[in-house]
Amino acid sequence: MTDADGPTTDLAAYAADRQIKYFMISYTDLFGGQRAKLVPAAAIGGMQAEGAGFAGFASWLDMTPADADMLAVPDPSSVFQLPWKPEVAWVAANPVMNGAEVAQAPRNVLRAVLAKAAAKGLTVKTGIEAEFFLITPDGEAISDSADIAAKPCYDAQALMRRYDVIAEICDGMLGLGWEPYQNDHEDANGQFEMNWAFADTLVTADRHSFFKFMVKSIAEKHGLRATFMPKPFPGLTGNGCHMHLSIWDGAGRNLFEDPADEVGLSADARHFLGGIMRHAKALAAITNPTVNSYKRINAPVTLSGATWSPNTVTWSGNNRTHMVRVPGPGRFELRLADGAANPYLFQAAAIAAGLAGLEAKADPGPRSDVNMYAEGHLADGVKLPLNLLDALRAFEADGALQAALGGEVSAAFLKLKHQEWNDYSRHFTQWERANTLDI
Ligand code: ADP
Ligand code: MG
Ligand code: MG
Ligand code: MG
Ligand code: MG
Repeated sequence: MTDADGPTTDLAAYAADRQIKYFMISYTDLFGGQRAKLVPAAAIGGMQAEGAGFAGFASWLDMTPADADMLAVPDPSSVFQLPWKPEVAWVAANPVMNGAEVAQAPRNVLRAVLAKAAAKGLTVKTGIEAEFFLITPDGEAISDSADIAAKPCYDAQALMRRYDVIAEICDGMLGLGWEPYQNDHEDANGQFEMNWAFADTLVTADRHSFFKFMVKSIAEKHGLRATFMPKPFPGLTGNGCHMHLSIWDGAGRNLFEDPADEVGLSADARHFLGGIMRHAKALAAITNPTVNSYKRINAPVTLSGATWSPNTVTWSGNNRTHMVRVPGPGRFELRLADGAANPYLFQAAAIAAGLAGLEAKADPGPRSDVNMYAEGHLADGVKLPLNLLDALRAFEADGALQAALGGEVSAAFLKLKHQEWNDYSRHFTQWERANTLDI
C-alpha cells in the first residue's frame, strides 16, 4: 500500500502493510500548535471509526472546561509514515463535537472553504515555502558559528555544513512522494528553505503541517533546534511562508492562465487577486498572527540588504519587493504570511478572500514595478498593519472576510488573539525604561 496505490482508506491495513506500531492522531489548534495522541496500531480500527477523545479547552480552540469531549476523527488519506521513525505514522484529524464538526477547528475551516470552491467546480492548488532557521538547542543563536557572511544566500559551504540534516529531511520528502526539487541556504545566516511540488490545497496544508513537525524532529535528532519564528534575530531576514496559488477546473485546465495577458494571468486570476488585495489588511491577522510577525513585515533593512518581506498592499510581476508577485504565467505568490501562520487557517483565509474577490469581480488595480524598498513612496497602496492589534482591528472591521472564513472561527480567533495581545501589553520592556526613565 504505497502512495502510488492511491489514497489510504484503511489505517489498520496500512499498519499491517508497513509494520506501523503507533499512530499519532493529530489536530491543529487556532494558534497552529499540533496536538496528538499516540494510538497503538491494535486500537486504530476503533479510533478511525470513532475518533480519539480530547478535552478541547486544553488547547487553543476557545472552548470551556464544561464542553463535551472533542473527537479527532482521522482522515486516512492524510497519513504519513515518519521517515525518521518508520514504526510511527502521523494522521491529520477532523475535530467533531456532539456529532457536528467543530466549526473553528482550522482543518475543518479549510475544508469548508475548499468545499465552497468545489461547489463552483474549482480546485485550488497551492505550494508553500516554509523557511526556517537551524539554531542552538537553547534558542539563543544560529547553530553554525561560521555562518556569518553579510550575503549568505545560497552559500555553498554553509549549506553543506548542514548536509546531514537537510538531506535527511529531503530524503524523507522523496520517500513520501512529495516531489521535492531543491534545498538552499536562505538570505539570513542560519536560514534554510526546502521546496516540494504544489498540490491540492488540503494536501499541501497537511504536508506543510507535517513538514514543520519533521524539520523540528530531524533537527533535534541532530542535536539542533529548528525555528519557523517570523523574526528570530533582529537585523536578519525573517522566516517567510510564501503561498503560490492557481485554480483549476474539472478538466485539469489552469483557469488562472492566459498566455495573451502581459503577466499571464486570466481575468478570473485578477479578480481572485483583487479579493486578496481588498482584504489584505485584515488577512494579516491570520497570515501574520503573532506579536513578532510585525518585526518581519515593515522591517528596516536587514544585514543582507533586503528584508524580502512586504510593507504595503501592492502587486507586481517577477519582483520580490511586493506583497504579491507573479513569478510566471498562471499563478501568483502571496508573500505576506510568515512562519507563525497556521498551515490550515492562513490558506483558508487567503482563499476565502480570493473567492470573495472572484464573486465580486474585484479589481486588483494596476501592478507596480518599483523597487518597494527604495521607492515605496512612489507606489499607491494601503500600508500593512504595524502590529498585531492593528491587524486584529482590521480583521474586526472586515465583516466580509469574517463571513467568508466563517463566523465561529473568526470570533474565536479574535477573542484568543486579543487575550494574547493584552498579555503582551502587560509585559514590561527595557525599551520603556530607556526611553522614559528621564522624562
Ligand atoms: P520562489 O522562491 O521563486 O518563490 P520556489 O521554487 O521556492 O519559488 O517555490 C515555488 C512554489 O510554487 C513551489 O511549491 C511550487 O510547487 C509552487 N508552484 C509552482 N507552480 C504552481 C502553480 N501553478 N500553482 C500553485 N503552486 C505552484
Ligand atoms: Mg484522561
Ligand atoms: Mg523559494
Ligand atoms: Mg525564500
Ligand atoms: Mg517565494
